[in-house]
Amino acid sequence: MVFPERCIGCGRNINIKKYCFCNDCLAHLVPASQSSNHIFSLTVYNGPVQKAIHTFKYERKKWMGKIFAQWMHDFLVAHPDIEFDFIIPVPLHPIREFHRSFNQSWLIAYHLGKLRKKPAMSNVLIKTRNNKSQTGLDSIERKQNVKAAYRVKKPSLVKNSSILVIDDVYTTGATAEEIYRTLKNSGAKTVYILTIAKA
Ligand SMILES: [Zn+2]
Repeated sequence: MVFPERCIGCGRNINIKKYCFCNDCLAHLVPASQSSNHIFSLTVYNGPVQKAIHTFKYERKKWMGKIFAQWMHDFLVAHPDIEFDFIIPVPLHPIREFHRSFNQSWLIAYHLGKLRKKPAMSNVLIKTRNNKSQTGLDSIERKQNVKAAYRVKKPSLVKNSSILVIDDVYTTGATAEEIYRTLKNSGAKTVYILTIAKA
């Protein structure tokens, strides 16, 4: 694993403490409120977190997947009521994944699976529609935009299972709710969604 020389939240401080953040940035992290009885986020989407996620996704710093996985692992240790059989990422459409070269949520899911000693699987749920980015859309447009965008590829795995879904940012919840509905319609027993940040 490659450790950063500088804090992932501010890019300045070299005195790194927890989750590769410096003390200044750690002091700015705010625990996020629970979005529903099945949707959780580690932290509020503010300055240091926004920078860290942006760097992870758009500068393709793949090693950061392990940092976020460790953070989620600690969260799950503190929330033992979140029980699940396996972990899946929010899928990207194959075209978008090709352009970005990786699915950031899959990287986190993969490392989290190792830490939790649970299977992480990337092809249980797939994205069938390459809808436009949710950025800049209001909550009604976001709901329309993700409607029927996902499909369960392995219904036999989903049926009667408890599933933990990983995403980076929770905004209006349109994506999370669509995925929740899609998995429940395929017979999932319980679906939890855990994101790094809540906007
Ligand atoms: Zn910092």
